[in-house]
Amino acid sequence: EEEVIEEPDAIKGQPDVEEEEDEARTFEELGLDPRLIRALNKKEISITEPTPIQRVAIPLILQGKDVVARAKTGSGKTLAYLLPLLQKLFGMTDSSRKKLAPSAFILVPSGELCQQVFKEVSSLIDSCKVQSKAVQLTSNMLASDLRNALAGQPDILVSTPSCVAKSLSAGALKSESINDSLEILVLDEADLLLSFGYEDDLKALTAHVPRRCQCLLMSATSSADVDKLKKLILHNPYVLTLPEVEG
Ligand code: ADP
Ligand code: MG
Repeated sequence: EEEVIEEPDAIKGQPDVEEEEDEARTFEELGLDPRLIRALNKKEISITEPTPIQRVAIPLILQGKDVVARAKTGSGKTLAYLLPLLQKLFGMTDSSRKKLAPSAFILVPSGELCQQVFKEVSSLIDSCKVQSKAVQLTSNMLASDLRNALAGQPDILVSTPSCVAKSLSAGALKSESINDSLEILVLDEADLLLSFGYEDDLKALTAHVPRRCQCLLMSATSSADVDKLKKLILHNPYVLTLPEVEG
């Protein structure tokens, strides 16, 4: 089975961008910020070389493309979206503007995964010594906790779709603010989001996602649910399917 990269209809037939990127073997060659590369090297288990999905996804995400990434569990999909997401936020210098909602939402299907991703993103931010701030929302939070968590103007929100929907109905997140502020939306483990019953919660959010927002969908399988989410949220995405996708 071969790696498949489906280009959006709009650019089919244009010179290959991905062939070049395929040859990049290091994070430097992918265009990653030196602060992030140093942070990866400093990890308990040092990360020095990108995985195949990271090699293909990182440059496309840095370029602002919508991406669907399908690759098996354990192939490094978290860093494939976190690294370029953080790099883009580092570069958003418009700090004079008061942000009423986070610039990036990372939505996951469980509280456990939320905790994992939050830990990873927080450790990268600490390691890079940048001003970016991440928060996670958890299902035990009351309306007042949600308001407090979001009042500190975080740049990155890690949450299940249900905690986002709850924040919207509690007024902790305002739909107009999401429309003003949101730049990147990630759906991680997208294959599980619908089967875990988050469809209505997701729709409560996606109604307010602005057209300019870059959307990324990560999944271990290619299921009908993934296709449905892709149609609901993404705009003409690159679809990356690496060998050994489950299902
Ligand atoms: P997936 O989301 O595809 O299931 P994860 O993002 O959870 O995979 O990554 C699985 C493991 O691989 C994690 O422990 C992560 O730290 C590690 N990992 C990620 N990228 C690399 C890399 N480039 N080199 C070595 N290990 C990596
Ligand atoms: Mg994952």
